[in-house]
Amino acid sequence: MNNSNRPLRVILGTGGTIAGRAARAGDNVGYVAGQVRVEDLLAGVPALQGCPLEVEQVYQVDSKDMHFGLWKRLLLRISHHLARDEVAGVVVTHGTDTLEETAFFIQSVLRPSKPVVFTCAMRPATALVPDGPQNLLDAFTVAGHPEVSGCVVVCAGEMHAAEHVSKVHSYRVNAFDSGDAGALACIEEGEVRWFHGPIQRTLPSNPEHLLARVLEADALPNVQVVTSHADADGSVVHALMRAGELDPVLRPRGIVVAATGNGTVHRALEQALSDAMAQGVRVVRSTRCARGRVIPDLAQSMPDSAGLSPVKARLAIALSLLAS
Ligand code: ASP
Repeated sequence: MNNSNRPLRVILGTGGTIAGRAARAGDNVGYVAGQVRVEDLLAGVPALQGCPLEVEQVYQVDSKDMHFGLWKRLLLRISHHLARDEVAGVVVTHGTDTLEETAFFIQSVLRPSKPVVFTCAMRPATALVPDGPQNLLDAFTVAGHPEVSGCVVVCAGEMHAAEHVSKVHSYRVNAFDSGDAGALACIEEGEVRWFHGPIQRTLPSNPEHLLARVLEADALPNVQVVTSHADADGSVVHALMRAGELDPVLRPRGIVVAATGNGTVHRALEQALSDAMAQGVRVVRSTRCARGRVIPDLAQSMPDSAGLSPVKARLAIALSLLAS
């Protein structure tokens, strides 16, 4: 196939372990993330030589330090490239630590119809056997696939929907999982094999003005995550509320509780959360369980997170506060 028949894809580099460099080749943990430029990552993927692609280094960060300002910069670059007729899709190389949050944020705000494919690595570029090159090649394949739309994560030969995926392993190369929803597809030798047929998006639509609100904002509304556990006594919630009394900027507008099991909360923490709700804080119950969701219960005063993990529920509340 000649290049005029092959869709143009843009690869945006943001850092992470995929761009990490260690002093010693066998070292998979003692490296610095976000060192290798995205154009240099392509050198590790000979199959991409001659393919119609553009690269752009948006920034170089360890994604553990992700913040709203960086998300806005990425959002602008993604929407710029998606608006170009000749671009079929965008690949974003990203650290694994907050990848699911970035993918969810971009999906929630942009609702892209073209593919936006987030990829990563668990081993640095200098590893004896780096996983980044194969992930990048698979992501490139997915970004040009006519049946893919919106934000997906590609890692270790699997494709996951932004709303379902979570990092579930701290070390293994297959670090991502979509819980009960399962992966959307696998990528085998440049072919996408669907498990569920074309993507059905589960996120409700966002108001059209959300993008403008996000771009105007200096920060997301303050939404915190607290965990319920044995001995949980509500002191974290009390401290958050007290901080907000001293400085209104610190006042939480929402709190997500990573609850036990099916949304159960230690009674002392529950009391503190109810008090916060009474003061106008939006409280949502997610679960700290790796699989499953909090099953909706209309008798509950604290709503459930509609299947979103605690960190994604935090974003969903913050974006809905921003839009309101
Ligand atoms: N700390 C790294 C990051 O998220 C971890 C990784 O990419 O695997 O940027």
